[in-house]
Amino acid sequence: MKIPTDIEIATETTMLPIKNIAEKMELQEDSYELYGKYKAKINSHELKKMSNKKNGKLILVTAISPTPAGEGKTTTSVGLADGLAKIGKRAMLALREPSLGPVFGMKGGATGGGYAQVVPMEEINLHFTGDFHAIGVANNLLAALIDNHIHHGNILNIDSQKITWKRVVDMNDRQLRHIVSGLQGKVNGVTREDGYDITVASEIMAILCLSNNIVELKDKLRQIIIGYNSSGDPVTAGDLKAEGALTALLKEAINPNLVQTLNHTPALIHGGPFANIAHGCNSILATKLAMKYADFAITEAGFGSDLGAEKFIDIKCRMADIQPDAVVLVATIRALKMHGGVSKKELNKVNKDAILEGLPNLKQHLVTIKEVYGLPVVVALNKFETDTAEELELVKEYCLSNQTEVVLSEAWEKGADGSVALAESVVRLANQTNDFSYVYDLTDSIEDKLTKVVQKVYGGNGVTFSKKAYKELNELNRLGFSNYPICMAKTQFSFSDQVSLIGAPKDFDINIASLKISAGAGFIVALTGSVMTMPGLPKHPASEGIDVNEDGDITGLF
Ligand code: ADP
Ligand code: MG
Repeated sequence: MKIPTDIEIATETTMLPIKNIAEKMELQEDSYELYGKYKAKINSHELKKMSNKKNGKLILVTAISPTPAGEGKTTTSVGLADGLAKIGKRAMLALREPSLGPVFGMKGGATGGGYAQVVPMEEINLHFTGDFHAIGVANNLLAALIDNHIHHGNILNIDSQKITWKRVVDMNDRQLRHIVSGLQGKVNGVTREDGYDITVASEIMAILCLSNNIVELKDKLRQIIIGYNSSGDPVTAGDLKAEGALTALLKEAINPNLVQTLNHTPALIHGGPFANIAHGCNSILATKLAMKYADFAITEAGFGSDLGAEKFIDIKCRMADIQPDAVVLVATIRALKMHGGVSKKELNKVNKDAILEGLPNLKQHLVTIKEVYGLPVVVALNKFETDTAEELELVKEYCLSNQTEVVLSEAWEKGADGSVALAESVVRLANQTNDFSYVYDLTDSIEDKLTKVVQKVYGGNGVTFSKKAYKELNELNRLGFSNYPICMAKTQFSFSDQVSLIGAPKDFDINIASLKISAGAGFIVALTGSVMTMPGLPKHPASEGIDVNEDGDITGLF
């Protein structure tokens, strides 16, 4: 059967006016603002109004270690929400907003796929409600204030060699990674080495997503460290009196965006921080609102359960004071084959041996979710057209022999109908009691936090520090940041810090190359090797396939 493209499916769907979706959620008319006919923003103050209302169950969708073959977390999440609605449950999604970088680059958009999508797909993937614009401008206002301060006499003694705050743009543009700015004499600024990050890598994106309300947003913005003075002490956004103006620029962006799935299930799409130097989850506000409006709130964390889910739990849940009730672990036959050593070109061939070789990767994720996070889990086997019955059966048997629930997820091909089994399993699991636990305590030393993540979640021996990281560790302790949670920036392709160690490697150390503080967001970033904060475009970017016809209809988005 030939399935139409994502954008064909999305544009053939008749959406309901977003007002109808809001009515279905029993939202008062003054609780939201329309952004056209099919998008709205829910006022963040709504959360306070509903403080006495019981929370719905929170379902976290995560995956085995990603491969270039793609796992389908968003697709499975959207299908699950529609599947829950289909069996009569009040469900709601809380997902990340797409960045323009991947939309025009290699990965494409982030609105799900096949018959499991959120719409209006092209608007969500392009400018949406302007949140990323607001975040970019707030980021760049702070950058302008820093250089302006130096230009006008530099009372704060900012060391222009030690400015850590960069400018941002929401585009994959490697040309801007390293630049020299402020050329052409004193009147045109201070000449210095500089560089751009992509907007989703801005600390302001992480801050927006980790704020429980607008007061907290302002407080976090005030604490941003922009660089260091000539004595080596931090200079903050507060020192530049920036937090008020930054908050003003973000006043609308902090309100979660309401859209719908192809089946008219409500979806909040809000915030999209990087999953390496930041925590990789949608905003706390969107997740909490979804928990208030629905009996089942479904949310996704970036990459695999070792990265996105760990940060979801240790950073986001801690700061939001929420906890998940059940976990969906997305796995595919294709990814398991890749963990078993098969190359991407060979994935369409039946290969049970490779699947068996790859299954220890799945197992390590299961052990972490059950024994470390203490949560019930179901494996959602995301079915691709090339999967055979015997291959699917093999994975099912493996899960069952490991006392784990497993269901076939056909969200991509069949939407809600293909997700009913997963929905039923999730309802069952979310009603069980659980032993939810963080991986470490905030009072643990920075070394102990890192060691616990490596040993308990990655299955490794421990951590080693580069000379640079060791110096930074002492500095973080001196500055009083030792009680902050850790944001691991590690390759998503392996439990280790080596991309090539696929499957479930053992007997390895994680080498911490550098430790950086994101004082506003409220976490310490542990870099294990170099992390790209301004990606580039591939030789044939997705933009080459994107077009618009005379009626204004867009083609080629995926
Ligand atoms: P993730 O959230 O894990 O990054 P997505 O849900 O965005 O993954 O899916 C990645 C890509 O794979 C999307 O283009 C999606 O349409 C496609 N995809 C997901 N599941 C399937 C499937 N079962 N069959 C075919 N394509 C799929
Ligand atoms: Mg996704």
